[in-house]
Amino acid sequence: MRLSEQELKNKTILITGANDGIGKSAALAYAEKGAKTILLGRNISALESVYDQITAKKLIEPMISLMDLEKADGKDYQMIYENLMKEFGRLDGLLLNASILGDRSPITHYDSETWVRTIHVNLTAQFLLTKTLLPALYQSDNASVIFTSSGVGKVGKAFWGAYSVSKFGIEGLSQILSSEHDDQDNIRFNCINPGPIRTKMRKKAYPYEDETLLKNPNEIMDKYIWLMSDKSKDITGQSIDC
Ligand code: NDP
Repeated sequence: MRLSEQELKNKTILITGANDGIGKSAALAYAEKGAKTILLGRNISALESVYDQITAKKLIEPMISLMDLEKADGKDYQMIYENLMKEFGRLDGLLLNASILGDRSPITHYDSETWVRTIHVNLTAQFLLTKTLLPALYQSDNASVIFTSSGVGKVGKAFWGAYSVSKFGIEGLSQILSSEHDDQDNIRFNCINPGPIRTKMRKKAYPYEDETLLKNPNEIMDKYIWLMSDKSKDITGQSIDC
């Protein structure tokens, strides 16, 4: 796959969980490729640090969108949409990356509150954000929505509980949206599965593994850029492994 220096020029892209891990790498990678980025997260100082890293490289100044996906209500989502339309009049890319691990325990012992919180952050909030931003995405010539899945979003495995169920849901949501837009060639919906990557979530899931054997998020960015770029405009309803 050949990506040009300015592959994402003139694109406005919102990234959730842009302050850390894969989302942070994606925000930097998209900015490096010429995009205007909107950094969504709940940790203002970490978001500002990503903002500083982007501006220090003299790339297009990003916008910060402070939002806790666990607590946000309808007004918060609407405000993002309105700010975005006022500033840019459209959205070209949406990377739904933020999520939480929940518990790693058998269903018989799974904490009910953790279940509800995990499904909310990992699935319901992604539905709400996507639904709210669809009218902005329709204004783009070629919009790309990327959901983040996982190996346990395709095959259920013991002790992955709500996280796994939420990722199955994400695969379904992406396929449904893709199917509902099959007569519209200016928008597409896909899932990406990063595979095992060295981040704080991976550390929490596998505290005893040798993390030096894992890829770091920067090593998988080509797929993230390609799926956001016009080069993948015929790809929709797919689940892509990095
Ligand atoms: P991290 O834990 O490093 O990053 C998760 C991001 O989501 C953080 O920025 C985090 O913010 C944000 N987030 C979590 N909860 C909320 C919330 N309530 N509101 C706003 N933001 C929130 O994980 P990864 O980078 O590893 O994960 C990125 C994606 O990749 C996830 O969807 C994950 O499921 C998926 N994935 C990762 C794999 C891996 O091996 N790393 C494997 C398969 C899938 P904060 O820093 O404030 O917590």
